[in-house]
Amino acid sequence: MKKFLCIALAVILTVSMVAAFAACSKDNKETTAATEATTTEAKETLVMATNAEFPPYEFHEGDKIVGIDAEIAQAIADKLGMELKIEDVQFDSIIPGVQAKKYDMGMAGMTVTKERQESVNFSTSYAKGVQVVIIKENSDIKSIDDLKGKKIGVQTSTTGDIYATDDFGEENITKFDNGAMATQALVAGKVDCVIIDNEPAKNYVAANEGLKILETSYVEEDYAICFNKENTELMDKVNKALEELIADGTVKTIVDKYIKAD
Ligand code: GLN
Repeated sequence: MKKFLCIALAVILTVSMVAAFAACSKDNKETTAATEATTTEAKETLVMATNAEFPPYEFHEGDKIVGIDAEIAQAIADKLGMELKIEDVQFDSIIPGVQAKKYDMGMAGMTVTKERQESVNFSTSYAKGVQVVIIKENSDIKSIDDLKGKKIGVQTSTTGDIYATDDFGEENITKFDNGAMATQALVAGKVDCVIIDNEPAKNYVAANEGLKILETSYVEEDYAICFNKENTELMDKVNKALEELIADGTVKTIVDKYIKAD
């Protein structure tokens, strides 16, 4: 009797092992099939150029680029069923790269200006920017007029650079690769102020002792995504997605996550 039980158990064990193995290999086959399906239906990529030195719009968090622009772009790519790829480049090579079709679009807290519109097309605007002046807490600069004859730090090729060069003369402007470097120069006393967009300005003031933002702002502007002039098809698709994301509150939720009300 015992012997019979043993044999029966062995048979049951063998049968279930075989069944389990079969199930496993079926699973494997299914996974392989699924992988093949995603590979053959590989998503089209959406290459966005940015300059990830512009918090809270784009900045590095570990090895990732995060921020308002990165998240809005991701939401757009998701809506379009595309795979977002972000290229981190110098701010002044974004527009030339979009013109050369190296990137599908440029998104970098970029202000819409008449001059830029001669080179690229701009999407619907998704945010407002304000050019402000960062000064030392004990500075004698009290108004925009006081900037005359002062050493002004800017980020190369940004609107802050363009407007300040026009208003106060090339000889008074020192250009830096990014806002962090311009702010360091202010802390070190190499320039008297920095003209830059308000949200990055708030970040730089918070990160450095003894700085403040001048109360009167300098220029108000609109941020938008830029595209190659020939690629109106992509711009139309992105605009439709962006407008939906503005209408359903997604853009506001993303902005509120990064910009806390004062
Ligand atoms: N808004 C400014 C511009 O478009 C600065 C943008 C930036 O530095 N990323 O020129």
